[in-house]
Amino acid sequence: MTEHQLPQGFETLAIHAGQEADPQTGAVVTPIYQVSTYKQDGVGGLRGGYEYSRSANPTRTALEECLAALEGGARGLAFASGLAAEDTLLRTILKPGDHIVIPNDAYGGTFRLFAKVLTRWGVEFSVANTQKLDDVRAALRPNTRAVWVETPSNPLLGITDLAGLAEVAHGAGALLVVDNTFASPYLQQPIALGADAVVHSTTKYMGGHSDVVGGALVLAEAGLGEEVAYHQNAMGAVSGPFDAWLVLRGIKTLGVRMDRHSSNAEKVAELLASHPKVSQVLYPGLPEHPGHDIAAKQMKAFGGMVSFRVAGGEEAAVEVCNRAQLFTLGESLGGVESLIEHPGRMTHASAAGSPLEVPADLVRVSVGIESIDDLLADLKQALG
Ligand SMILES: *Cc1c(COP(=O)(O)O)cnc(C)c1O
Repeated sequence: MTEHQLPQGFETLAIHAGQEADPQTGAVVTPIYQVSTYKQDGVGGLRGGYEYSRSANPTRTALEECLAALEGGARGLAFASGLAAEDTLLRTILKPGDHIVIPNDAYGGTFRLFAKVLTRWGVEFSVANTQKLDDVRAALRPNTRAVWVETPSNPLLGITDLAGLAEVAHGAGALLVVDNTFASPYLQQPIALGADAVVHSTTKYMGGHSDVVGGALVLAEAGLGEEVAYHQNAMGAVSGPFDAWLVLRGIKTLGVRMDRHSSNAEKVAELLASHPKVSQVLYPGLPEHPGHDIAAKQMKAFGGMVSFRVAGGEEAAVEVCNRAQLFTLGESLGGVESLIEHPGRMTHASAAGSPLEVPADLVRVSVGIESIDDLLADLKQALG
């Protein structure tokens, strides 16, 4: 935090939280402390608390304080990837014999972590449609320790009522974990709505430039924050200093980028909704989207991700992806450049045959911040 104590808005915190000018040189930007160990002034005499960079590193600390401020939590932690963050959280809050409810629409790698890794450690999971709170209630068991949700979800852009889900989870003595990657804290702050933990792939909107892989956790309470921090050090999947610096740099422009991602995506969704080759558009900003009202209530804008189904099926959907030019064919999302992909064969291939399998005619776009006319022209030509 900065020296003065005035209350600060989101955009101010994004630029300043955890990032005072360097006390030695006055450097305005937090330096990349590319270092593993720290000189001690006599045994145990640490300067500023740093002893070894797995335990803590000043560049990572700056990012972690910034993350906590942006999500309104007690503790922020930065990891080597989104999945490293998820794994560390899950193996802190779950033990063999515990049960977790997971959504029927989620990032494919998240599903793989539950289905292929955690089950081997004796953790049970049930899949529920989190958009229907009764579905979640029906999935709860006496040993349910957590409910996991993505909203908007990946790749179907489903919207879950976070305040309602928090009540359901807490009523059963379970924690609510929200993967806030698609929205970013600029558009949605789950802790204010009752979440206990927020997960990010900072690879996406937080980094924002497709040049770094990273992950983050923000914990609402200091006690759980301390426990997860202990596991972060014990398990070791930390963010390196340069990666932490890249994410810090990306976050400074998060607000202006999300505004443009959202306004461009709204126009893309409108174009797709009126296109004869598109059978359905999945975007919470469209009034006909079933989660539109909840999204309008809990989000500042509707974000930059749009999915749509192509009339003509799987091959037609793949052709649209192949024909796109300005929209780069590739996995991932949230960068300044627009991306297009076929979830069934790409990001969500690992969910094939599971309750999280995605429609074969689905195309997902990450709408970037290029000139909107160029983006619309490219989609028109790709749809043919
Ligand atoms: C990409 C992604 C992840 C995984 O993050 P990595 O940084 O790739 O490990 C988790 N959740 C969502 C919603 C994602 O889009």
